[in-house]
Amino acid sequence: MTQHPLWKYLRPNSLPHFFCPGCGAAQVLNFFLQAADETHLDFDKFVGIGGVGCAARIPVYIDAEALHGVHGRTIPWATGIKLHKPELKVVIFAGDGDASAIGGGHLIHACRRNLDVTMIVVNNLTYGMTGGQMAPTTPLHVKSATTPYGNAEEPFDICKLAETAGATYVARWSTAKPKGAKKAIKEAINHTGFSLVEIVTQCPTNFGRRALGTGSAVDGLEWIKKNSVTIKKAETMSQAELEGKFVQGTFVNKQKPVFMGSSVC
Ligand code: SF4
Repeated sequence: MTQHPLWKYLRPNSLPHFFCPGCGAAQVLNFFLQAADETHLDFDKFVGIGGVGCAARIPVYIDAEALHGVHGRTIPWATGIKLHKPELKVVIFAGDGDASAIGGGHLIHACRRNLDVTMIVVNNLTYGMTGGQMAPTTPLHVKSATTPYGNAEEPFDICKLAETAGATYVARWSTAKPKGAKKAIKEAINHTGFSLVEIVTQCPTNFGRRALGTGSAVDGLEWIKKNSVTIKKAETMSQAELEGKFVQGTFVNKQKPVFMGSSVC
């Protein structure tokens, strides 16, 4: 049997994988491996980090150094690794809760410092692994395990948060836009400084069933597609029209000295 060309990057014996059928997190692993292949990423000088959550399992499948630990603490580990061994490429795979709720305090300071790591935020709009509770990214009015009558809280815009806090590369795409997602990951891999790529993903098992009333991955992708607009299109829309929309594209791409502990360089 001919093996898929990306198969060589997977850790031996790591399959079958943990993701539910149709989960967007598995697509993000695929996008990352394609981007790594096309940018000739050296996996001997690479560390993948995951906290806790479905997306946090992504680095476990990559045949390279990986750290899989506690919820929300991916950035402190990345900081320690990067300051000790600046030659390593450090990539964090975090869910939206991991990145912007439990780890939200760390996120803003990594952006502010311009820590030289890449963070891929797999935003499934819920706490998928623990049963579909409301997350800080859950859209207004949608149902979740903890908001059976609809979410009353305004969601975080993770990209705006990162941009405001000073990140030097910020982009959002979705699993419904694989080309854009892969291009952004490639740019983030090649970027020097804190790069954040948010990828809005379908979670058929929890967000899908509870918020959309369907456990179909295709329906989840269609819903994301229907609610996505490009930055260019967004510029022509009113605030009311943009309510609940995922604006996609590159928001920030600039250079700034990077954080190296007691100094910047
Ligand atoms: S619960 Fe949702 S995010 Fe987690 S593996 Fe299943 S589909 Fe994916």
